[in-house]
Amino acid sequence: MDIHLISHLVVFVMSEIGTYYALDFGGTNFRVLRVQLGGRRSLILSQDVEQRPIPQHLMTSTSEDLFDFIASSLKQFVEKEENGSEPSSVRARELGLTFSFPVRQLSIHSGILIKWTKGFAIEDMVGKEVVGLLEAALVRSGLDMRAAVLVNDAVGTLALGHYDDADTVAAVIIGTGTNACYLERADAIIKCQGHLITSGCMAVNMEWGNFWSSHLPRTSYDIDLDLESPNPNDQGFEKMISGIYLGDIVRRVILRMSQESDIFGPVSSRLSIPFILQAPLLAAMHEDDSPELKEVDKILKETLEISEVSLKVRKLVVRICDVVTRRAARLAAAGIAGILKKIGRDGSGGVAGGRGRSDPEMRRTVVAIEGGLYTRYMMFREYLHEALNEILGEDVAQHVILKVTEDGSGIGGALLAAANSSSS
Ligand code: ADP
Repeated sequence: MDIHLISHLVVFVMSEIGTYYALDFGGTNFRVLRVQLGGRRSLILSQDVEQRPIPQHLMTSTSEDLFDFIASSLKQFVEKEENGSEPSSVRARELGLTFSFPVRQLSIHSGILIKWTKGFAIEDMVGKEVVGLLEAALVRSGLDMRAAVLVNDAVGTLALGHYDDADTVAAVIIGTGTNACYLERADAIIKCQGHLITSGCMAVNMEWGNFWSSHLPRTSYDIDLDLESPNPNDQGFEKMISGIYLGDIVRRVILRMSQESDIFGPVSSRLSIPFILQAPLLAAMHEDDSPELKEVDKILKETLEISEVSLKVRKLVVRICDVVTRRAARLAAAGIAGILKKIGRDGSGGVAGGRGRSDPEMRRTVVAIEGGLYTRYMMFREYLHEALNEILGEDVAQHVILKVTEDGSGIGGALLAAANSSSS
């Protein structure tokens, strides 16, 4: 797989005390967080999170509009949280920025946006340094804060995962987009040569959403979705897996069926609207357990304006949802198994000296996982677990724990800000 950037840190000793803020920006929702650290390992005293959707128009607007929105959201949050309490010390003004798009990392607190993904297309920002743009907006909004760290969601999730549980070896995000990151011994990374390495491990950000292989069979629906996206020939793995795309694959299949047969009645114009069928609707249809498939009927009527379809056709719709979701979940599971193989935790005694398949002493292996598709879509989750068991075998799979880290990407960003604050 392609390795785009390598972030130092992750195995860090936490001795910071104080309040740290974080911004988590990378898809459907934007989160502002405040984390109070107590100073000893595993001592997050409190955390506050505020989430708001990214206004659609900002996804294709200018970098100034986007960062002004982010800065003003942060300002409101800080003012609300600090209302009535003592103003924060200088260290409390250290910020972690979790920015989940492909970035060429220049340092722990700076990086250049390589390209947009997940439907974003703010052209003036490509090739620009991200933290500089944020800090300029913070100045414009009169907020005295600096970003101590720039990471993406996978690295942030791995940081929190590892902080909580030292057996955590990788982090996987399956939300609006998908990505993964894992811990690698520093001496195994060619890109490290010449870099200062302070610990034996590094977090490798895989940007696996852009993974591609000629062995991955693509359907005509995948090909059309890709061609009509703002980033054709890019993020191929992500386009088969993540939340922003799954519903649209299902929409395309139903559209084709509707055009080529009369089972859905006259072709609804709604079927031609890209992204009208979002993943939560797909999940609701897929998980409809009513005998008459009432939820499917409702969504077909209300969202797609398709009415009067027989139970048989509604069952067919569930089947489409099932096939698309199962494929996505199995691909994600294959990716996770690939990471475990790479770091010798798949039971095959791989490169890093893992133990044999039947060895009862195989090490406990934790993969931190985050993202709405995984956490809120039960069938997706079940298919992923099923496939991982299938690939690894029960003996090995029982040692592999997929652990959800709620808001891990943002809180991890705050932890990393603390670990990299100017005074640490
Ligand atoms: P982000 O990845 O944007 O930071 P989330 O982790 O919350 O945000 O993931 C949002 C994605 O999760 C959405 O794109 C949506 O596709 C998916 N999602 C949210 N809720 C559900 C649900 N109930 N069923 C299926 N998918 C869901």
